[in-house]
Order: sequence, then structure tokens, then C-alpha cells
Amino acid sequence: MTQDRKVAIVTGASRGIGAAIATRLAKDGLAVVINYAGNAAQADELAGQIRKIGGEALPVRADVSDPAAVTALFDAAEKAFGGVDVLVNNAGIMTLGRIADVDDAAFTRQVDINFRGTFNTLREAGKRLRQGGRIVNLSTSVVGLKFENYGVYAATKAAVETLTAIMAKELRGRNTTVNAVAPGPTGTALFLDGKSPELIEKLSKMNPLERLGTPDDIAAAVAFLVGPDGAWINGQTLRANGGMV
Ligand code: NDP
Repeated sequence: MTQDRKVAIVTGASRGIGAAIATRLAKDGLAVVINYAGNAAQADELAGQIRKIGGEALPVRADVSDPAAVTALFDAAEKAFGGVDVLVNNAGIMTLGRIADVDDAAFTRQVDINFRGTFNTLREAGKRLRQGGRIVNLSTSVVGLKFENYGVYAATKAAVETLTAIMAKELRGRNTTVNAVAPGPTGTALFLDGKSPELIEKLSKMNPLERLGTPDDIAAAVAFLVGPDGAWINGQTLRANGGMV
């Protein structure tokens, strides 16, 4: 291991946007911790791909909604790589439904993973991130669009945006930035599963660039905020959606 290599924890990095972020940060020279909830095989495979291109990667299972698991996640990162410089809060789930119809289980799961999960890792990062750190939280452009059926999901992400802006101020003196990236529709299981081809086509064309976002599009925005060119951006939410809102 190179001693001056920065270290990033990317939550929910076994697939989708998180996997693209982990790959991009590894290409940019960071050692990456690939967090996941259940998909060990995919996380291991991604770690293997990153090592093949000369990067350092460690898959770590941890349910972000569990504070003890999050503490263990940071412990594992520090043990393997000597410290943590970057946290990307990407793990998230989405269950759509009108507010009048959402059941308690769907409400609690989204709050636990999207809101509490982000809180759990931010709390740990607030204590343990090295000086000069970077935090990027994944929100959603639906916070701006306010589509029907997205009430609970969007509300958990609005909470994430609020945590982002406040924590940026609380880390005064640490030379650490805290920002959010809010994607629009992006081609992953979270977006595609359960939607008809017609609805996918319609949502893809809502932005003036008339295509679906790719995980690499979102990873590029995250990499900008993590890298030296993003150093002066702090406490902001960057909507990465082709101009949809
Ligand atoms: P995917 O469903 O493709 O991937 C979700 C990832 O999160 C997986 O790696 C999954 O791990 C992990 N995960 C789920 N629950 C937990 C948990 N409790 N603890 C740790 N990891 C967990 O989602 P996307 O890549 O599409 O989404 C990534 C982020 O981007 C989310 O926060 C989402 O809200 C946001 N976003 C996505 C958009 C889209 O259109 N795709 C649009 C706007 C925002 P495992 O594989 O082990 O299950």
C-alpha cells in the first residue's frame, strides 16, 4: 500500500451507481472500501476488477442502518488502509407509493436506510475522517421535481440534503467539504425495476439531453467533488440530471 494514497468508503458499492463511483475513485488513485448489504459476490468481483487495474479495494459487508455495523465498517477501513479521507453515502432504497397508501414497513425501511443510514455514517465520519476530507451524500432530483408517489423516498433525501448543508458548517476547522449529488433517472436496478419500457422512455426524455443518466455520469460528478477541482464547493447539492430540474 502507498502511504499517501487517500482512502474512500463508498456505501452501497456492490452495484449500480456505487460500483461506478468506487471504480472511478480507484482510477483516480484512491483506495476504496466497497460497502454492501447482501451481494458479497458482486462486491468481491468489483474488488477483483479494481485490483486488476492496479487499485486497492476492500469489500466490507455492513447494513448502514445499524450503527454498530457502521462503526465496524470504519474500523475495517482504518485497519486495512490506515485511515479514512472520503465518505460517499450512496447506499439507498426506493419504494414508490402515494402517501395515503404507504405501509409502515416501507416507510421505516426507507427512513432507516436512506436517512438513518446516512446519519450513522456521517456521525462516524465526523469523529474519524482525517483532516482535508471529503463527504458526498447521494440525494435525488425528485426533491426538486416533487413527483407524485415519491413522497417518502424524496422526504428521506430532503433530510439528507439538510444534513449535508449543516454538517459542512459543523466541520469548520477540519478543511473538509460536505456536499450532495442529486441524480435524475439513472440506468440501475433501483430506477429500472418495475417500470414499463414506455415509462422508462418517457422519464428518459424529460431532460433536454433526452437520455437516461448512466452510473458513470454520476460517478464523474462525485469524483469532481472528491478531487482537487471541487475543493471550493462546500455545503451544496449538485443536481446531476441532464437539466431535468
Ligand atoms: P441500486 O439499487 O442499483 O444499488 C443499491 C446499492 O445500495 C447496492 O449496492 C446495495 O447493496 C446497497 N444497499 C442497499 N441497502 C443497503 C444497506 N442497508 N446497507 C448498505 N448498503 C445497502 O441503487 P442505485 O445505484 O440506483 O442508487 C444509488 C443511490 O443513488 C441511492 O442512494 C439512490 O437513492 C440514489 N439515486 C438513484 C437514482 C436512479 O435513478 N438510479 C436517481 C436518484 C438518486 P446490495 O447489492 O448488497 O443489496
